[in-house]
Amino acid sequence: MGDDPASRIYVNNKKKACEYCGIRSFEYAMPAETTQEELMALIEKLNNDDSVDGILCQLPIPKHLDEKAVINAIRPDKDVDAFHPANVGKIMIGDYDFLPCTPAGVMELIKESGIDITGKECVVIGRSNIVGKPMAMLLLHAHGTVTICHSRTKDLAETVRRADIVVAAVGVPELITGDMIKEGAVVIDVGMNRLADKKLVGDVEFSGASEKASAITPVPGGVGPMTIAMLMKNTVKAALVHSENK
Ligand code: NAP
Repeated sequence: MGDDPASRIYVNNKKKACEYCGIRSFEYAMPAETTQEELMALIEKLNNDDSVDGILCQLPIPKHLDEKAVINAIRPDKDVDAFHPANVGKIMIGDYDFLPCTPAGVMELIKESGIDITGKECVVIGRSNIVGKPMAMLLLHAHGTVTICHSRTKDLAETVRRADIVVAAVGVPELITGDMIKEGAVVIDVGMNRLADKKLVGDVEFSGASEKASAITPVPGGVGPMTIAMLMKNTVKAALVHSENK
């Protein structure tokens, strides 16, 4: 929707990944002045199109549109971003079809690195519906002891210092500095922040944190590609479910 430059990059990367995986993708680039009715009509059309297994609306959308209504309108079994309340609720009880792509990507990184979450102190910084909250829930399901920090947290540095596993999903460049990281901690940086000089940095100060961490993700090239990989996984999963039901 509209011409957000970051959204353009994300959409292009998702299209490229679809091509790589052999998934057909259809782009509907709609102008910023699109009405709610037009957008809802498109979602309805895609909901009813049997050749479409997954639908995502690249956020953010222009301010005059109702984002919540858009998320609610996507059929839950085609909701490959896992933002629909039905899918969010399923994550809460640990009985899900799709996981939201970014937290799922983080879990995959931890698992593939051979890191056991059981009993570990996990600190998630950020409580958004799309990253922070589901992230905390997945760490909890994996038997971590989870703390969620946000903008009103009293002593962020002290809380992060306790963590065996730190997940930063804030959107503030290099908020988490090396002195906040416990020796040997695992540090996952979800943040993607574009500085005035166009440089992309995370929410973690990489140079300081990497001296303390036993494992750390870079920005770019860490969580970002995993998010796209999980979107492909969700889409294939949706396609398999739909083909079983045909
Ligand atoms: P969001 O909706 O803006 O949420 C940010 C969260 O950070 C909020 O919960 C906010 O607290 C908290 N916060 C803000 N300032 C803080 C501070 N000084 N101390 C502690 N907590 C603070 O952002 P989001 O959508 O979750 O995204 C977070 C970051 O991840 C962004 O940089 C975004 O670009 C990036 N991201 C990356 C990917 C990827 O694929 N790599 C995917 C999604 C997002 P309150 O709730 O109290 O306001």
